[in-house]
Amino acid sequence: MKVDINQELQQIQEKGLFRTLRTMNAASDPETILEGKKILLFSSNNYLGLANDPRLKEKAIEAIQQFGIGSGGSRLTTGNFCLHEQLEQDIAAFKGKEASLIFGSGFLANVGIISSLMESGDVILSDALNHASIIDGCRLSNADTLIYHHVDMNDLEKKLQRTSSYRRKLIVTDGVFSMDGNIAPLPAIVQLAQKYGAMVMVDDAHATGVLGKTGAGTAEYFGLTNQIELLMGTLSKSVGSEGGYVAASRSMIHYLRNKARTFIFQTSLSPGVIAASIEGIRIIHEERERRIQLLENAEFLRTGLKKAGFSLVDGTTPILAVLIGSAQDAVRFSKRLEEEGIFAPAIRPPTVPEGMSRIRLTVMATHRRGQLEYALQTFLKIGKEMNLLSANNLVY
Ligand SMILES: *Cc1c(COP(=O)(O)O)cnc(C)c1O
Repeated sequence: MKVDINQELQQIQEKGLFRTLRTMNAASDPETILEGKKILLFSSNNYLGLANDPRLKEKAIEAIQQFGIGSGGSRLTTGNFCLHEQLEQDIAAFKGKEASLIFGSGFLANVGIISSLMESGDVILSDALNHASIIDGCRLSNADTLIYHHVDMNDLEKKLQRTSSYRRKLIVTDGVFSMDGNIAPLPAIVQLAQKYGAMVMVDDAHATGVLGKTGAGTAEYFGLTNQIELLMGTLSKSVGSEGGYVAASRSMIHYLRNKARTFIFQTSLSPGVIAASIEGIRIIHEERERRIQLLENAEFLRTGLKKAGFSLVDGTTPILAVLIGSAQDAVRFSKRLEEEGIFAPAIRPPTVPEGMSRIRLTVMATHRRGQLEYALQTFLKIGKEMNLLSANNLVY
């Protein structure tokens, strides 16, 4: 039977779930250009502002001059440059592990790690709100996957109690969840992992460069670096570049290098991208003030929005989930924001539960106070306009 693509597309459209692309005409900075118009960007993962940092660009240009644009091969053939090895050493040191392995992206890292480590006869315990790439890694692995309720440790334990007959067990979680910006309860997860003989893998895409004394992420934040076997992350958010990685024991890295298909069968990342990542990690290490500024900016906006009467998912990270309610209202809110010069998307079902549609704001270290204040005023204006603020909350 011929599959009718147009019919399916129409169904997607009817459900209001048709996705389109927005076009940026400038770098991912607080002030950027969206489809020809100047706009304040409140939805980038460029948390520390490094994606357009002159020093990263300089290093990338130097590397391109010396090594070219394309690496020309996979790491196991002709694509293993001294730069890749340097970056892996730097990531291992940054994360406090023996070794690390780079992948083409965070998505490919999750898919490759989980599917090579776990197989039929194994069991994976995965948080209900984990990133899509974790979900796909689980699916590809042929292991049984038990989804526990979001950050619900009672449910995790209940599920672990049923796993005694499995060979290998893995608990996998986002360190910071991308939609709510909340932090995974790693101390409880590690405790349960030890009790039931499971390994732990944390995806710190949103926590790297953000949380912990040196910005190493949630494991450092909780002092659990040695108790968590696999510290996965991306170079495409705080680090300002591109690529994914995992930091782990030397033997784990040897294993993944031999088994992870997304590592083995992909051309290695371009030298320019690798050199930029090395510089990004160096800057994260040396410029603690960026991280402090980032968290201060997040706190300023979070406190202001709450004071104005909005409800936000509790948290301390640069991801701010401002609850609006219905999908229609969230979409309208986002559209009004854009008319006022602010770019922040509405997040709707099925990404979030019905009635929990929201505006998802991300803050950058490079946002200036005036820009944050403007965002606050604009939220207040639209909130009043749409009758979303209860009168007794209006302290402004
Ligand atoms: C962004 C993200 C990824 C994917 O990383 P890329 O480098 O963009 O492929 C994986 N996990 C989480 C939690 C993320 O937020």
